Amino acid sequence: MIGAGPAGYPAAIRAAQNGLKVVCVDAWVNRDGGSALGGTCLNAGCIPSKALLESSELLHRARSEFAAHGITASGIVLDLAVMQKRRASIVRNMTGGIGSLFKAAGVTAIFGRGRLLPGRRVEVTRHDGSRSELDARHVVLASGSEPTELKSARFDHEYIVDSWDALEFDSVPGKLCVIGAGVIGLELGSVWRRLGAEVVVLEALENFLAIADQQLAGEAARHFRKQGLDIRLGAKVTGASVANGAVSVSYSDRAGAQTLTADKLIVAVGRRPYTTDLYAPGTGVELDQRGFIQVDDQCRTGADGVWAVGDCVRGPMLAHKGKEEGIAVADLIAGRYAHVNYDVIPSVIYTAPEIAWVGQTEEQVRAAGTDCKIGVFPFAASGRARAMEAAVGFVKILAARDSDTILGVHIIGPMAGELIAEATLAMEFQASAEDLQRTIHAHPTLAEALHEAALAVDKRAIDSINR
Ligand code: FAD
Ligand code: AMP
Repeated sequence: MIGAGPAGYPAAIRAAQNGLKVVCVDAWVNRDGGSALGGTCLNAGCIPSKALLESSELLHRARSEFAAHGITASGIVLDLAVMQKRRASIVRNMTGGIGSLFKAAGVTAIFGRGRLLPGRRVEVTRHDGSRSELDARHVVLASGSEPTELKSARFDHEYIVDSWDALEFDSVPGKLCVIGAGVIGLELGSVWRRLGAEVVVLEALENFLAIADQQLAGEAARHFRKQGLDIRLGAKVTGASVANGAVSVSYSDRAGAQTLTADKLIVAVGRRPYTTDLYAPGTGVELDQRGFIQVDDQCRTGADGVWAVGDCVRGPMLAHKGKEEGIAVADLIAGRYAHVNYDVIPSVIYTAPEIAWVGQTEEQVRAAGTDCKIGVFPFAASGRARAMEAAVGFVKILAARDSDTILGVHIIGPMAGELIAEATLAMEFQASAEDLQRTIHAHPTLAEALHEAALAVDKRAIDSINR
């Protein structure tokens, strides 16, 4: 196994569960110089970002929502050092946990770089410079991805920063500019906005959240702007320069050339596969035009016995997608059945309100020419959401008109990222809207919104007016 991120480490554990002898080589080095398992997700991605999203949301709620509950909270002060210490300790705990899981499963972890040589040999260079070679029956490449750099705004990691840097700021920037209104840009923009920064988000596309259902995207844009995120669409960044402790950003939009000045600039324009020095010539591993390792439907590369999973191969760059591929590959190697259903991968944006979806958007369904029924249920009509002071957003379900099969579920609102699990399970089982309608949901719960949206598909919602 090369790489111990969310694709590589589950593959290692499952392979060991399948009775194989497993070595996992990982090159991750933290900013303090220490090695750690867990890859981008645990060290610099999913987990630290969620820690800060949670803390900053609590601050926001304490300041602006407690009063509605009749709680007067005065003297609320942000202690960013404590907040960051908490983030770091969660990360340490989780990455250390993988070490314990490896030990329990009998996986040998090596901290260093792995390089595939022809004939399924792996050259290992440990961080102390010592070298060795391993012979393997199977090699799984799980080398992940890295932030995309813009030629017009090169990282200096102090003023022009990537997402990892932006998770470790030790003071709140007065003015922050984010390039890219994608998942990472919106999450990081939200964190620092709630902690007090003035935030401008520049997005080249005219459509906000073009990957999401546009009804959901419209609702999201309205909320984010209300929270003070200054989202500028159709704004393509053309340059950035640092002078006198500030970044000057130039961009062009419909009105022409523009500039703005910020204390920090986060470049969040996506990630690209990381395959630097991962394999020697002559191994048979090949990259596609976009730099992803070429694999078939079951993650086999062009080299016999060499597999690749996670962000370094095609498909959405999501931890749970990589995990599923890693597990599947470990099972295929052991001669077991495995299948990854790429049509049913949930996406979540952990902003407030949260955004989550699975399956096709309304735009995709219409483009495919499928006749569909749509049911929408607003959280404003949910007793639980009201009790939580979180009655914003809605659940939208798309179902095929002929078969009633659920084609897509889109949620914006409280705990959307948790609620989407029910929709994902339903779609995995090829459920119909009627299946959800006939499933009893506890009252009062947020999940009832899914039940009611399924009823609304046939204009039979009880708790909202059917249109
Ligand atoms: P990685 O996690 O990148 O791990 C690859 C590992 O391989 C690294 O440790 C690397 O050092 C190591 N490696 C690379 N080359 C070598 C080599 N030659 N030898 C040895 N080791 C090597 N996804 C979600 O699903 N949910 C989220 O909420 C989410 N939030 C995110 C927030 C941020 C700020 C970022 C940046 C990403 C987020 N992601 C999220 C994406 C998620 O982190 C990635 O999809 C996931 O980490 C990919 O897993 P991976 O195992 O393929 O690669
Ligand atoms: P994601 O791929 O979800 O991380 O989102 C990255 C976002 O960055 C996309 O919405 C891109 O359109 C946007 N983007 C890429 N390059 C630029 C640029 N030069 N200026 C502004 N936005 C950009």
